[in-house]
Amino acid sequence: MKALVKAEPREGLWMQTAPVPEIGPDDVLIKINKTGICGTDIHIWNWDDWAQKTVPVPLITGHEFAGEIVEIGRNVEGLEIGQRCSGEGHLIGKTSRQSRAGKFHLDPATRGIGVNEPGAFAQYLRLPAFNVVLLPDEIPDEIGAILDPLGNAVHTALSFDLVGEDVLITGAGPIGIMAAAVARHVGARHVVITDVNQARLDLAAKVADVVPVNVASEDLKGVIARLKMKQGFDVGLEMSGNQQALDQMVEALTMGGRIAMLGIPPGKSPVDWSRIVFKAITIKGVYGREIFETWYKMIAMLQNGLDVSAVITHRFHVDDFREGFMAMKSGQSGKVVLDWT
Ligand code: NAD
Ligand code: ZN
Repeated sequence: MKALVKAEPREGLWMQTAPVPEIGPDDVLIKINKTGICGTDIHIWNWDDWAQKTVPVPLITGHEFAGEIVEIGRNVEGLEIGQRCSGEGHLIGKTSRQSRAGKFHLDPATRGIGVNEPGAFAQYLRLPAFNVVLLPDEIPDEIGAILDPLGNAVHTALSFDLVGEDVLITGAGPIGIMAAAVARHVGARHVVITDVNQARLDLAAKVADVVPVNVASEDLKGVIARLKMKQGFDVGLEMSGNQQALDQMVEALTMGGRIAMLGIPPGKSPVDWSRIVFKAITIKGVYGREIFETWYKMIAMLQNGLDVSAVITHRFHVDDFREGFMAMKSGQSGKVVLDWT
């Protein structure tokens, strides 16, 4: 089969021929139709410090996918050949305290497909049947291929009650933009999204009914006054990984505000803790998706009118994967989807 492989410990990915994976008794084999390129894949392409420390070479990359089940392990019940699916890319153990409590997303032994284990940028993927999430007919493959990052957005956005709340999202990358759409969908009052990249703010305004703010030229104080908020935002969703953005968020939150933090700051970023204490702010770190509650809620919302399709700005056949990666690296794209059919 064709596979996009981190074949050498340097910049780039290589299209290679690899054996179709053999499945175990508890696995399924998935024929891949569409995949999404993630920021993580860009780190792996660039072969930065994180990638060098984390990713074994050679490795089939990729973790955002949609496809169909073509083979089923002998212990597997409840799945059928031909069913369309996506799936949770975090492979978890079942013996930790967290897993035994049903909090699968908190399992400390989590391993990622396309990061630690063979991934989805291939014609076929082996996946534990446990991780499979079936796609209803009304969710097309290209949306199926971005459920992983949409799940990050949903997990973060649903961390706190947003009904009637004023929400600040810092970072209008694909995940921030999708989080804005989710916040709107679940009934937030004002949803403000910040970035320093105008193209991404323009895309955010196309995907969701939000107030885009370019913090390179506009101050959030002015926005708070313009929207007639009494004190500031009730909830912050940090989706940039940028230190200044987190600082601005703390400043712009009301007393007792809540922050869900998905963005990954570089190294040990300084934080003005006294401000967080005196404002009595709650901060929650968010990792991955809740397994499988996030998947359940996200699919239900998509079936009930949540529309994030405009976040997909580029589509390529996988033979043109280089163009797809370059579009992602440009910083001007939303989601980039590769077609494997
Ligand atoms: P992205 O890099 O595409 O988007 C981040 C955006 O933040 C960019 O558009 C950038 O211009 C913007 N930004 C930079 N400085 C800013 C500032 N001062 N104020 C506001 N915005 C600013 O990332 P993404 O793929 O959308 O992911 C969002 C974040 O979530 C990233 O940090 C990523 O590493 C992280 N992430 C975390 C998890 C997890 O499980 N915790 C999973 C996926 C992604
Ligand atoms: Zn991803």
